[in-house]
Amino acid sequence: MDLQQNKDAVFAAIERAKKAADRSQEFVNVIAVTKYVDSSITKDLVATGVQHIGENRVDVFLDKYRALSGIPLTWHLIGSLQRRKVKDVINYVDYFHALDSVKLAQEIQKRAEKKIKCFLQVNISKEASKHGFLIEELEAVLEELLSLDKVEVVGLMTMAPFEASHAELMSIFSEAKALQERLAARKLPHMPFTELSMGMSGDFTEAIACGATFIRIGTAFFK
Ligand SMILES: *Cc1c(COP(=O)(O)O)cnc(C)c1O
Repeated sequence: MDLQQNKDAVFAAIERAKKAADRSQEFVNVIAVTKYVDSSITKDLVATGVQHIGENRVDVFLDKYRALSGIPLTWHLIGSLQRRKVKDVINYVDYFHALDSVKLAQEIQKRAEKKIKCFLQVNISKEASKHGFLIEELEAVLEELLSLDKVEVVGLMTMAPFEASHAELMSIFSEAKALQERLAARKLPHMPFTELSMGMSGDFTEAIACGATFIRIGTAFFK
């Protein structure tokens, strides 16, 4: 595994995707999802020049956060979070990508010592196995979130089905983009909705084409 070579290949592919989408001047944040490797390999990857680290499990997130303390990094919790674990982790998180229930938002409000940047996870493809709000639930959810001022909703996060075709990916990701723009236009308090977290190793080209501002890449760094 040549981390520098993988990192360079991933970033080059991202630049190509941005160019193809006429987004060369825009910033796309690349989150290295390090759930496949230990803290030592994570450090080696950081040395190649990645700036954002993503983990999907609270215990591993905390281990790595401690192991890499002292290195200026941006920390992303990308996986579903159980309510009882919010107090252990939420104040160390720079971005939480998987806000998928009002009860979870209420717990974050209760435990947060600062505003917490969150993405609302939306289930655009309506896969039963996927977490996230259905679009038709969102109005009621936004109403509830209005009183939770420590939950700063920076945008939407979505995941496409594993086996989706290029056309299906384009359709899901453009629907997410259109929804994000509609929500941003409402200028709701503490819910700017300016960001879009979508795209993984297998589908970041389509996600960038549709306007992703954060992509979450694991496998491609560690092959
Ligand atoms: C694992 C994971 C990723 C990265 O997926 P790869 O296919 O390995 O790039 C992105 N987002 C979430 C929520 C994940 O759990």
